[in-house]
Amino acid sequence: MPQTSLPDHYTQLRTLKREAATISSIGALVSWDQETYMPAGAAEARSEQLGLLARLEHERSTDPRLGELIGACESDASVKGDERLNASVREMRRDYDIATKLPSELVEELARVGSQAQEAWKSARAGNDYNAFKPWLEKMVGLSRRKAECLSTGGELYNALLDLYEPGATADEIERVFTPLRERLSAFIQDIATNGTPPDTSMLDTKVPEAQQHAFGLRVLGAMGFDLKTGRLDVTTHPFCSGVAPGDTRLTTRYRDERFTDALYGTMHEGGHGLYEQGLPKTPDLFGTPLADSVSLGIHESQSRMWENLVGRSESFWTWALPVANECFDNALRDQTPASMTRAVNTSKPTLIRVEADEGTYNLHVMLRFELERAMMKGDLSVADLPGAWNDRMKSLLGLDVPDDARGCLQDVHWSFGLMGYFPTYTLGNLYAAQFWEAIKRDLPDVESGFARGEFAPLLEWLRTNIHAHGRQYQASELCERATGAPLSADPLMRHLESRIRPAYALD
Ligand code: ZN
Repeated sequence: MPQTSLPDHYTQLRTLKREAATISSIGALVSWDQETYMPAGAAEARSEQLGLLARLEHERSTDPRLGELIGACESDASVKGDERLNASVREMRRDYDIATKLPSELVEELARVGSQAQEAWKSARAGNDYNAFKPWLEKMVGLSRRKAECLSTGGELYNALLDLYEPGATADEIERVFTPLRERLSAFIQDIATNGTPPDTSMLDTKVPEAQQHAFGLRVLGAMGFDLKTGRLDVTTHPFCSGVAPGDTRLTTRYRDERFTDALYGTMHEGGHGLYEQGLPKTPDLFGTPLADSVSLGIHESQSRMWENLVGRSESFWTWALPVANECFDNALRDQTPASMTRAVNTSKPTLIRVEADEGTYNLHVMLRFELERAMMKGDLSVADLPGAWNDRMKSLLGLDVPDDARGCLQDVHWSFGLMGYFPTYTLGNLYAAQFWEAIKRDLPDVESGFARGEFAPLLEWLRTNIHAHGRQYQASELCERATGAPLSADPLMRHLESRIRPAYALD
């Protein structure tokens, strides 16, 4: 894309988008500060700062001038003839349409009712009182439906919400992949529980002081290729990654004295998100355009799961990481071997809570939510019937009886502020990660054995070339086909889980 040949309306568009991206990067920075270092006394001023930034961002993203320039680019043959420019304009059109289709009165109502509903959810969960939350959830389902009606281009309403997080995906397509996965996972988990011998996990209870865990986390991030000159790692209650601006990617994690693997895998997870942010081409000529943006939440999550699970729970990873952990932890794991660590971090057992679920059972929690939120959006499931439907599915999918709604349908925050259509992206991330992984091992047969020597660069290089460098040039399904040669399937994830979890339980 030589600079000199760019049409004038495209460069003007790029300038506007760059300013909008700069405003949103300021928002990301002050939000990060709020989660990490902000003194409590700044809360009121901070909410005013964020409110003003949100208003400026909204004005920028709905500016009629933006619409005119996008229109001019769309009818310009020189833009259409350039694959990358054309994709950039296509995605700008998509963003502009979404921003302008929602009436501001609805956006405001969603924000206002959503924040009240979230407070109601907090106390309902604490008091295990679904009836107190029910009227709020009814309001949020109604508002979500109105939002979907504004955005929908026909077909199932749920798709319009899903499309906000996973552009181009539809509920039918997801169902086609999820249905075989659900059946195979349920049978797999049942088999492990009945026939497997659980591995020893006692070493995971080793108490490791926070400072030692932090030192280990930084060593692992460094080996993964996360650049600390253009990034940071800090501590929060809820770990996250924020690609604040070019040259500024911030990760957070949390530490508990016991279960040092929680912080390790949390750090590797956010590190995977961070590597994607650092790998996006946020160069001065692209920053602010969709070519410097991530594809979707599912693809973003595939990058975090790749490092957390595919890499971090492999025996070759532990061959390198165990001596490093012993250096950082005063030899606290000296009696362990890479094999014993690998078995311990690949346990799988049905539990009630999604955020505590292991790799083997996690996706069943997501499928349950996908089915229920889709049914609520369709009107096939009433909010009043949600707890019963939840409990029935927990029994059939995971074989568990739900003792109360706090550990059932009240456990997640998402629905309380209208986040519907978001859950499937977690499982899409796992599916994409496993499918990329098989392609990587085909392209680079020695990649996994290199981990044992601390060599993670070939993997990162593959991700940079096949995923990160493209920005939003391709939608997720197309990116997957280009990178792996096949459409998304449940098979790679099942093969991956079987290859890790069965040996941990002494099966095969
Ligand atoms: Zn994530």
